[in-house]
Amino acid sequence: MNVFHKALLRLKPVLEIQSFKEDFLDTLKSPELFTEFSIPVKLDSGQIKIFHGFRSRHSTLLGPGKGGIRFHPNVDADEVKALSFWMTIKCAVAGLPFGGAKGGVAVNPKDLSVSELERLSRGYVRCIHQLIGPDIDIPAPDVYTNSKIMAWMTDEYCKLTGKLDLGVFTGKPVDFGGSLGREEATGRGGFYVLQTIQHLLGLPKSGAKIAIQGFGNVGSSFARLAQFQGHKIVAVSDSQTAIFNPNGFDVEALVKHKALYGSLRSVKLNNGKIEEDYGEVISHDDLLTLEVDFLVPCALEDAITEKIAKDLKAKVVIELANGPTTPEAEVVLESKKTVVIPDVLANAGGVIVSYLEWVQNRSGYYWSEDEVFSKLQHLSSKATETLWNTSKEKNCSLRTAAYLHALLRLQQAFLAKK
Ligand code: NAD
Repeated sequence: MNVFHKALLRLKPVLEIQSFKEDFLDTLKSPELFTEFSIPVKLDSGQIKIFHGFRSRHSTLLGPGKGGIRFHPNVDADEVKALSFWMTIKCAVAGLPFGGAKGGVAVNPKDLSVSELERLSRGYVRCIHQLIGPDIDIPAPDVYTNSKIMAWMTDEYCKLTGKLDLGVFTGKPVDFGGSLGREEATGRGGFYVLQTIQHLLGLPKSGAKIAIQGFGNVGSSFARLAQFQGHKIVAVSDSQTAIFNPNGFDVEALVKHKALYGSLRSVKLNNGKIEEDYGEVISHDDLLTLEVDFLVPCALEDAITEKIAKDLKAKVVIELANGPTTPEAEVVLESKKTVVIPDVLANAGGVIVSYLEWVQNRSGYYWSEDEVFSKLQHLSSKATETLWNTSKEKNCSLRTAAYLHALLRLQQAFLAKK
């Protein structure tokens, strides 16, 4: 079964507790628009190389399609379709006036020079500029794309259309129409979800033990805020190593170390003082099964397998990564009564601040960082409370509640136009 059809299987538990109109459900089973194209790029050697690009606009029932552009060697048609479907659900869960979309190029950007990467980014936009725009489909960064790439893409789009329409891409640099607070938005949104869940579960506001898998943009932003709140970050990992400190790390020192050396390796657990030495290194699997209050996966898909789920001891899993829990693992976690905060809620902070960036671009009025964070907090907490109430009312998991809530919103929009 391909990954898009697998993604659609997430609807199954929802359809067991609520019926929906068949013609509405049919609209979700394939993207509204899918395009696959070749991007010719002149390499520094003078040779022309063809790259394969994709864009999927899954649904515009709630508004323009919204979703990132991924540059990764494994990108293919089905993955892009699946990711665009998840964006439809995520935007609906967060209460945004957006549908779902996603794009990508099958490329390892590390193999390209900066000027080759720029030509590829501009070439991508030349292939799809008639299909995107602030009113129809708004791309953003995803894996291995960043604000610089969004600046090249926005610039190319504006040249091609002859209009300075900055709302066509989000995740741009602040100096070129980007929003303050976008960089840490996903980790911060996840932190607001954590605070709301603690309140709903009646847990103390500070003093929790937290393990974080993946100490990149999302993991480190989340860790900073959680430590500031008085929680202990007792374990962190990156692709090379996992480290453990029962007394809690000095997160700022770890961030500096990672920026300096590009990895968590050689961190001495000396009250956060960084020295070029190993600390207590644990295995990646050990990190996932530590006795902690919160486990926060912030790396890649399928981190929590059925085997890990059986040994997992955390009370709550906050999915800041996309798709970190396999469906088989989810069954085990449900039977153990582990609370899983699903990715479509936990990591929606990124798309929420993208929405705020789009609003600022369209109105030409820009908010302070505090104003952006306060709107992010309001939207994240509201979505968490709504799903919590639905999960209690329907006696279902938060993931099923999220899909149920999203489908109800989408169906209302479908029926309103019928
Ligand atoms: P990133 O590249 O900045 O960080 C990822 C980190 O994970 C890196 O430190 C990497 O070394 C580590 N990692 C990779 N494989 C690992 C493994 N097997 N074990 C432990 N660590 C591993 O990426 P990011 O932007 O922080 O994104 C992380 C996750 O969050 C991804 O799943 C992404 O799709 C999701 N996400 C990100 C955003 C965003 O705004 N950046 C928004 C929504 C979802």
